[in-house]
Amino acid sequence: MTSPHTAALPGQPHFSHRDGELFVEDVALRELAREHGTPLFVYSKAAMLSALAAYQRGFAGRKARICYAMKANSSLAVLQVFAQAGCGFDIVSGGELQRALAAGGRPADIIFSGVGKTRAEMRQALDSGIGCFNVESEAELEVLSEVATAAGAVAPVSIRVNPDVDPKTHPYISTGLKGNKFGVAHDRALAAYRRAAALPGLRVVGIDCHIGSQITAAAPYLDAMDRILDLVESVEAAGIALPHIDFGGGLGIAYQGEQPPAADALWARLFEKLDARGFGDRQFLIEPGRSLVGNAGACLTEVLYLKPGEQKNFCVVDAAMNDLPRPAMYQAWHAIVPLGASSAAASTYDIVGPVCESGDWIARDRELAVRPGDVLAVLSAGAYCMSMASNYNSRGRAAEVLVDGDRAVLIRARETVADQMRMERLLP
Ligand SMILES: *Cc1c(COP(=O)(O)O)cnc(C)c1O
Repeated sequence: MTSPHTAALPGQPHFSHRDGELFVEDVALRELAREHGTPLFVYSKAAMLSALAAYQRGFAGRKARICYAMKANSSLAVLQVFAQAGCGFDIVSGGELQRALAAGGRPADIIFSGVGKTRAEMRQALDSGIGCFNVESEAELEVLSEVATAAGAVAPVSIRVNPDVDPKTHPYISTGLKGNKFGVAHDRALAAYRRAAALPGLRVVGIDCHIGSQITAAAPYLDAMDRILDLVESVEAAGIALPHIDFGGGLGIAYQGEQPPAADALWARLFEKLDARGFGDRQFLIEPGRSLVGNAGACLTEVLYLKPGEQKNFCVVDAAMNDLPRPAMYQAWHAIVPLGASSAAASTYDIVGPVCESGDWIARDRELAVRPGDVLAVLSAGAYCMSMASNYNSRGRAAEVLVDGDRAVLIRARETVADQMRMERLLP
């Protein structure tokens, strides 16, 4: 279904202009906005599967499991796409466990990360038969062993190790450094493994790390791999086998022209190192989140008002920080594209939402030709948007649609005020 007037968006081949109209796969976004209203999240199944395929190519002929880090986007139908494609899941709460199971995830392919697992969550995960607990502290080892013993079970564990990759060379890495809350320090890891091996309720099955998010260079991964392999050697020299190596997630996407390594190219380099050091035939796990879904989604939002000013022109839209929290939280940049041509004159705008906070902005200083009633697509909105959405200002969460070729399925209805008030009670 290509025409001479088709032009894919840069870095997002599943979103394209056809005769000036923005499409996702073979569906016009304007039709979806008309049918379902705005704000509306729209996802491309083909974009998710092609992001996954890059990892699958990287692991061809190896023993590997891709566990989608579902906190990036935990909508059931999105999980279903990955479960059907053979992925496991990396979860960080009991709620995520229930979602993964409801979407068809196989318990043995689920790994449980996070620094604050409760006893109840541990018990729930043990009862479900998950594949591995990624333990983040020595205190957690003790509690997990107690919970498992009381349940008459043995918990499969990996210890999340903090590789402490040099911050001077890679200052953008934020979770694999000394001084953040994640993982066990590199120089404590051997002692932690000795303790794990001695506890009655635990069975050591691997080692893991996760060095940060939106990583756009290969060097920190290569450095971290060396640090992890050093540890694997010393732990195994102490007589504790580590059947799997879980290398976490964190690979970045292009929001604004970034050029992160492709997953297959990155893994080709990592396997060079692994093969050279004699670890190429281990079982590998990875936990990608953003890189599987980030550029598969867009958020459609209608222009409500144009508000020219002395210093700034504002374009007020119907999506806000409760739908798209990344700009307010991380000063993140999202591309904004009108769904079609407009006869309006172009001007420079800050794009802002209706929420009563100055932090409620979606984009700054963008040149746009728009008028009220036009619909804009906020791109790269597949990861860490809907899964972080809130009801601030008593705004219902947006609806979601998943597109597959020329078919579009509503995968989440727009949240109503009744939905929001359902758990609340007036005083007697
Ligand atoms: C968030 C997280 C991931 C996924 O990170 P991305 O940057 O989205 O790939 C993987 N593993 C753990 C432990 C995480 O906390």
